[in-house]
Amino acid sequence: MSPVSQPTPGSAHGAHGSVLVVNSGSSSIKYQLVNPVGGEAIASGIVERIGEDEGSVRHTYGGNTTTRTDPVPDHGAGLRAVLALFEEVGPDLAQAHVVAVGHRVVHGGAVFGAPVVVDDEIVAQIDALSPLAPLHNPPNLTGIQVARELLPDVPHVVVFDTAFFRTLPEAAATYAIDREVAREHGVRRYGFHGTSHQYVSGKVARVLGRRLEDINQIVLHLGNGASASAVRGGVAVETSMGMTPLEGLVMGTRSGDIDPAVLIHLQRNAGLSVDDVDDLLNRRSGLKGLAGENDFRELHTLVDSGDEDASLALDVYLHRLRKYVGAYYAVLGRVDVITFTAGVGENDPVVRARALEGLEPLGIAVDPERNAGRKKEPTIISPDWTSTLVMVVPTNEELAIARQAIATIEAAGYEGTSDESDPAPAATGHA
Ligand code: ADP
Repeated sequence: MSPVSQPTPGSAHGAHGSVLVVNSGSSSIKYQLVNPVGGEAIASGIVERIGEDEGSVRHTYGGNTTTRTDPVPDHGAGLRAVLALFEEVGPDLAQAHVVAVGHRVVHGGAVFGAPVVVDDEIVAQIDALSPLAPLHNPPNLTGIQVARELLPDVPHVVVFDTAFFRTLPEAAATYAIDREVAREHGVRRYGFHGTSHQYVSGKVARVLGRRLEDINQIVLHLGNGASASAVRGGVAVETSMGMTPLEGLVMGTRSGDIDPAVLIHLQRNAGLSVDDVDDLLNRRSGLKGLAGENDFRELHTLVDSGDEDASLALDVYLHRLRKYVGAYYAVLGRVDVITFTAGVGENDPVVRARALEGLEPLGIAVDPERNAGRKKEPTIISPDWTSTLVMVVPTNEELAIARQAIATIEAAGYEGTSDESDPAPAATGHA
């Protein structure tokens, strides 16, 4: 029997129920049981090293983390282990009243501009997009299929990383190459991290108490992967990632923008294969390639100790970031808010301050006191005089997926959910 009950009002987490959010990668499954109304994670965890000799499952509930280290031969075994841990240490999924499973899917191509309830046809369409994201869509799909088998009584919803950027104008989405080649092979800019950019830009408007339609925003999602977006009145009009998540900003291990002729040169003259180039640009570049370190905490330690490679890596990273802010300023014409988010954006005051250095003539500045420290809540970090607000807003992709899953099943006519899935959060003292 499935551990998930049919929706019934008045259960442990209220009539709204909870959503199990699943992010299935090639050798890992991250999951979170989310209360979409209050926004808190009821439980969360990760299955790692799927298919290797020694796998692990880490499950956190009620402040306690339980770890199991057994081989996890495949995604099915991984998800079964997760369900067993829910049964063993809680929370009881039937009592948690799971009304939907929300799946993160990386590439929705030109097909998907919104989340959808999964059926066999949707599975086939996601599968057909695999050539555009060979490392991501197949494991995403495996996760969906396994979860549908193990949790057959609830609707499964897919939320695409690309969907928010379906609105990019053709001028921003089109690469200037032979249009027949581009059309035949789906070569265009799709953008990624869309769930985060959408969540953060929406949250900025709510925290400020302003209409989303009235504000122009630049969102800087700086994690291990990093991307920038320009959002005009809630509509994405530019983003830094392209056909794949490799384009744009300097990242932890990815190069971001690079002259495409470098790839030709390395294959023609340096004897690198296609796979070598893939490995170089995705895993041996960015901060890691320049400084041997991709965690900003370690990078700062290296810089402070006088490491010149680390210092240059940080300069390259910040230069690219500032260049994108300037470019998006020109795209938008007027910028009301610039927001930092994700692991680096939320936690690194040095990156935030230095990225926007020297932009005072554009009405952009960071106040050292307001900027200090890590930010767990939405915070304004610009001084009072600027025309552009600079903010830090923690992202929450799991919550965004949970809320989108609820909205999607409600629109599709499923019962037992609430009609208030996205209440305005309380503004903080800073905002
Ligand atoms: P992703 O989801 O892309 O893996 P995250 O958004 O979780 O990445 O960000 C991870 C990165 O955040 C780390 O690699 C590290 O560089 C940075 N980070 C995390 N905590 C801190 C901190 N306290 N100070 C500076 N950087 C931090």
